[in-house]
Amino acid sequence: MSRMEFPQQGLPGLKVLDEIKALKTGDSDWKNGRVFSLVFNAGDEIKQFAEQAFDIFLNENGLSPFAFPSLLKMENEVVAMMIDLLGGGEQAAGNVTTGGTESLMSIVKTARDYARDKKPHIKEPQLVMPLSAHPAFNKAAHFLGIKTVIVPTDTGSVVDLDAYRSAISENTIMLVGSAPSYPHGIIDPIEEIGRIALEKDIWFHVDACVGGMVLPFVRMAGYEVPPFDLSVPGVWSISADIHKYGYTPKGASIVLYRSSELRKYQIYVYADWPGGVYATSSVAGSHSGGGVASSWGIFRFLGREGYTRLAGLAMQAALELQKGVNGTPGLHVIGKPLSTVFAIGSDTLNVYALGEKMKARRWYIDSQQMPPSLHMTVMPEHVKIVGSFLADLREASAETEKLKPEDIGGEAALYGMIGSLPDRGAARDIAVQFLNDLYQLH
Ligand SMILES: *Cc1c(COP(=O)(O)O)cnc(C)c1O
Repeated sequence: MSRMEFPQQGLPGLKVLDEIKALKTGDSDWKNGRVFSLVFNAGDEIKQFAEQAFDIFLNENGLSPFAFPSLLKMENEVVAMMIDLLGGGEQAAGNVTTGGTESLMSIVKTARDYARDKKPHIKEPQLVMPLSAHPAFNKAAHFLGIKTVIVPTDTGSVVDLDAYRSAISENTIMLVGSAPSYPHGIIDPIEEIGRIALEKDIWFHVDACVGGMVLPFVRMAGYEVPPFDLSVPGVWSISADIHKYGYTPKGASIVLYRSSELRKYQIYVYADWPGGVYATSSVAGSHSGGGVASSWGIFRFLGREGYTRLAGLAMQAALELQKGVNGTPGLHVIGKPLSTVFAIGSDTLNVYALGEKMKARRWYIDSQQMPPSLHMTVMPEHVKIVGSFLADLREASAETEKLKPEDIGGEAALYGMIGSLPDRGAARDIAVQFLNDLYQLH
């Protein structure tokens, strides 16, 4: 018997909308700055603007540049504005995608097809990436039949350049660096990797998915940011998520190539279909035009000035939070993040248990591993909660210090167990089982 029947009769719309709203009440409260990932919050005015712009193209389909010339024009202009922001030259080209994962899937596919064309001797393509790079690369490589070679990082999440160099072989089709990395907010040594890329003539992608819409403005706000974009010699392509620090609703990211010749390898064509010549530059098929419209709109709504003000606020909150974390007994910030993203680590406390204690105080902070840490993506709205967050963090860490190992249960215990399993295959199996159970009515 099925667990829920498909409804026979329709219900009044308002009643159903109320039901949907009621379902949200148990969710984490990002609007009041109690979440440090997933939803990028720059306040109501900006959110409402971005939603309205999105809404105008909610139903239009980004699949067809012919039916909706307006979307094509806006996409080309969004790309041009991002080329301007991220140091691309006259030849640069790119596309808007539906998110970071699609951007990285596109880039890895493009680099693979470029290598097939230009380096046909490569039969088993490999991608070299630091341990801290985003798993969307592993996912893309898995989908595309490419091997990943992971370069270790030190306790400050800094990649070892000698190890990076040794990880490169004649099968390497792409080098990866992050600006910054998602787990710890560390900017990889982009100029140094760029030099290696030039010397060995290998594609180098900078993943600025989280940083691309904030680092340029952090710099304009007066902070030191090392060179990380297309202007760095050796960088071939860059990705930036507009639905993160660009503050659009989900469904907007960008890929940029140093030349449109490279972008040709991104385009997929099936010319023999009765439905027509099927040609797309995206991985996604049908998708809302909202992402493009919202990006175009919000760039013009905020401008460099607005984004710089917001980046200044996020940096201010991030630095105050980092100072408070380092001042809390037993806790420290991992490495030296030069951005609005950082991680809370500890040599003495169980940070997963600390996360649970914070959750009991209605702060939602993601757990990370290798080493155990808590993830902090800091947004402009967080300036309002710095004081109350740090007060709760001090209390929660004092409570965590008193915990005996046998008191640590629930998610904290599960996460600790999975993180410390020496057999990573077993860790994967547990995660598969867990997700498979999660996505079912019980
Ligand atoms: C968020 C992120 C991604 C993946 O982006 P999605 O939009 O979640 O698909 C990739 N790389 C980095 C560095 C990120 O922060």
